[in-house]
Amino acid sequence: MGKSLVNNVYFLGGFATMGGMLFGFDISSMSGVVGTERYQDYFGHPSSSLQGGIVASMAAGSFLGALLAGPFGDRFSRKYTIMLAAAIWIVGSIIQCASVNVAMLIVGRIINGVAVGLASMIVPVYQSEIAPKNIRGRIVSLQQWAITWGILIQYFIQYGCSYIQSNAAFRVPWGIQIVPGAIMLIGMFFFPFSPRWLADKGRTEEALEVLANLRANGDKNDPAVLAEFRDIQEAITFDRTQAARSYLELFKHPYSRRVFLGMTLQSWSQLTGMNVCMYYIVFVFRGAGITGQDANLQASSIQYVLNVLMTIPAILFIDRWGRRPVLLLGSTAMAFWLFLIGGLMGRYGEATTLEGDSTTSWAIRDQPTVSHAVIACSYLFVCSFAISWGPVSWTYPAEIYPLRIRAKAVSLSTASNWAFNFILAYAVPPALEHIQYRTYYIFGGFCAAMTIHVYFQFPETKGRTLEQMDEVFNSGLPAWKSLPPPSDKIHHEAADEKVGEKTEI
Ligand code: BGC
Repeated sequence: MGKSLVNNVYFLGGFATMGGMLFGFDISSMSGVVGTERYQDYFGHPSSSLQGGIVASMAAGSFLGALLAGPFGDRFSRKYTIMLAAAIWIVGSIIQCASVNVAMLIVGRIINGVAVGLASMIVPVYQSEIAPKNIRGRIVSLQQWAITWGILIQYFIQYGCSYIQSNAAFRVPWGIQIVPGAIMLIGMFFFPFSPRWLADKGRTEEALEVLANLRANGDKNDPAVLAEFRDIQEAITFDRTQAARSYLELFKHPYSRRVFLGMTLQSWSQLTGMNVCMYYIVFVFRGAGITGQDANLQASSIQYVLNVLMTIPAILFIDRWGRRPVLLLGSTAMAFWLFLIGGLMGRYGEATTLEGDSTTSWAIRDQPTVSHAVIACSYLFVCSFAISWGPVSWTYPAEIYPLRIRAKAVSLSTASNWAFNFILAYAVPPALEHIQYRTYYIFGGFCAAMTIHVYFQFPETKGRTLEQMDEVFNSGLPAWKSLPPPSDKIHHEAADEKVGEKTEI
């Protein structure tokens, strides 16, 4: 790999998102397989609760992986933790692919889940630590983009393989998962350590060298490099004057507020209800009165493609728009679409029974216009998430903590994402069955609540270095008032512009 390539922040940040790709594969790793005869026959027609357990075993593993990633990331480095995630993923995929019974399948899925938990926590941290502040949001948003690609690719692989008339129908999609894991494992070997992690470990010379390579083609005397390096060192020197690090301090002043914000942001992102669409779009469609295999394929494909496409504007503009407006507009829009879906279904739908599907107990019938309106709203909902909460739920937690607590705190916020992911994967089908269209009102209510929470509690972070976040959070200003320009603005301005020039491609 060329030296300049491995020192290009876009290439590096983009490559690390292979971790996001695994995440996406994980999310849709069952959707296309579960309905096939081959799968059902081979695994003895699992009951719905056993099938729920098979699906959720991965999220449970991810919860564990996200928790482990904090200490691992600090101790063994961000880079090696990413490589470890890739290695574990390969092992899990081999077990899953070779499964001879449900127990083996579940073990494989838990192991894959651990890998995804590790990667989903450590990749955004690595990205935010290598990126200059003016494109940090964009680099971390690439992770969300990779998630959306992973979901889409795995869905189509599974759909294609569902036509195979042998056990390869499920073994091939799970086996193919080894490929991105192997690429990630080998590729990361050539990439640098995070300069901030190196500095924290006292490997000062190496840290400066990596930073100079990333920002200024190796020029260690470049003013931008020196300014950033000095900030990192100052933050670490200050850190050394503090008490020993522990998990306990995350819940005490001055960090507890930020830890709470990171954890709630990730929990809210799940409570938007986005995974109702990602996991259970079939039921949304049946409720809207649209059934049949082709309709199902179309519905899923369109929403997965929209999810990929609508993440692009966020990648391009998040550092210009800022995190706050994007979150506020995103959740307001999602609340609107959800209430509209609930309202249309409540007004035009009726109690119903579908053979072999107890989840769909309420549906719109023989009113194509209303059906189409509901579908349109569900697509607009997915688009609203993709451009806002999807990317920002990863960007914001990875940037708000000081180095001292970053890995542990991001690990908690990522674990919150997986905890709610797990709970909702279980809770949504019974909710749709028992309270029907009112389920959408509940998620709409969550979206309204998160809008208020963000408005009052989440300060803007765009354009600040990671080392300036203390200023942002300790300013004493209410969250909705923007801070004056960074205190070192004049001093660093020229340097920042230079960084921007060198990293924009
Ligand atoms: C969420 C996932 C979701 C995905 C959809 C991610 O940010 O954490 O749970 O399935 O976005 O694109």
